[in-house]
Amino acid sequence: MSNRKPVVEEFVPSGEQSALWPDVSGNTINGLGETEVRRPTPVMWHEPEKIAHGDVQKWFWAQGVKEPKLAAMRADREKVIGLQPRLIASDQNQMQATDASNKVKELARKAGAELVGIARANPDWVFEGYDFDYPWIIVLGVVMEHDKLLTAPEVTSAIEVVDKYTKGWKVARPVEDWILSQGWRAEASGGPSAGPITLTPAAIECGFGELGKHGSIINREHGSSFRLSAVFTDMPLVEDALDEFAADDFCSACQVCTKACPVDAISDKKQTVRGVEKWYVDFDKCFSYFAETYGCGICLGVCPWSTPGRAPKLADKFTKRREKKRQSESQG
Ligand code: SF4
Ligand code: SF4
Repeated sequence: MSNRKPVVEEFVPSGEQSALWPDVSGNTINGLGETEVRRPTPVMWHEPEKIAHGDVQKWFWAQGVKEPKLAAMRADREKVIGLQPRLIASDQNQMQATDASNKVKELARKAGAELVGIARANPDWVFEGYDFDYPWIIVLGVVMEHDKLLTAPEVTSAIEVVDKYTKGWKVARPVEDWILSQGWRAEASGGPSAGPITLTPAAIECGFGELGKHGSIINREHGSSFRLSAVFTDMPLVEDALDEFAADDFCSACQVCTKACPVDAISDKKQTVRGVEKWYVDFDKCFSYFAETYGCGICLGVCPWSTPGRAPKLADKFTKRREKKRQSESQG
């Protein structure tokens, strides 16, 4: 396992950035330590005027503008995001949910999505202050080039992130377009903005993988080297199943990301967040570093599951190990 040294021994955010931080901690907004289940509160990647950390978010965007290639790619992405969807057809195609699901997946893969899954929308995923009335979420995943991700927090990684968020929109558009052509409502959504719902639990629910200690999903083929986008719809579909392959067991014994994080933002223990015990990344520590650089992601790149070709072997090995443990426990 990689034992990458921290990029900086002791990180101190610039005075310019520090002056923009609000008094409230992002961890408080996220519900760290709260024992009751509740909807998430927008904390970052929403309209800056609507979030406590809006000035820090704006400052982060402004840093990126200083890098011409990054700025140009962001501008291209905005064009893709701004495309107007077609009008919804007046005749509604009452096709079988299995056929519709297969078609959606075929279109997404043809457009370039490496991952696609379907989940029933859960009201607990909707951010406070947002209305969401779609019963279905199609989650799409586009794989990042791992060697570029490994350069985080340098600009090469940031450019790769922008490229893959743009691709996320591009793979969502044909799915949105087809559903609208069939007379059902559809709305594409993707990064970097968060949209009306938090996508990570939806992606886990539809089989993308397990939540890792670094706070992102670990997938059995691509590790954490991918980005998400989505299409929301009322077209009847068929949900996919969870995919568990003992990544959580692996995380319990691994410390690669905790050691690699330059600001010790990754906790080695699960914590209670809005009524759920899970891996949690300290928002204030992570984002103050993230904003000062071109955006971080060191933890995603160094995760052993993200090394190309490694995740399937780990999934196989740890699934067998978990199964063996269960069998020996059931035999007393
Ligand atoms: S680096 Fe290790 S602990 Fe961190 S998410 Fe990946 S597997 Fe889990
Ligand atoms: S993205 Fe955040 S949690 Fe991950 S290594 Fe960077 S600062 Fe740490």
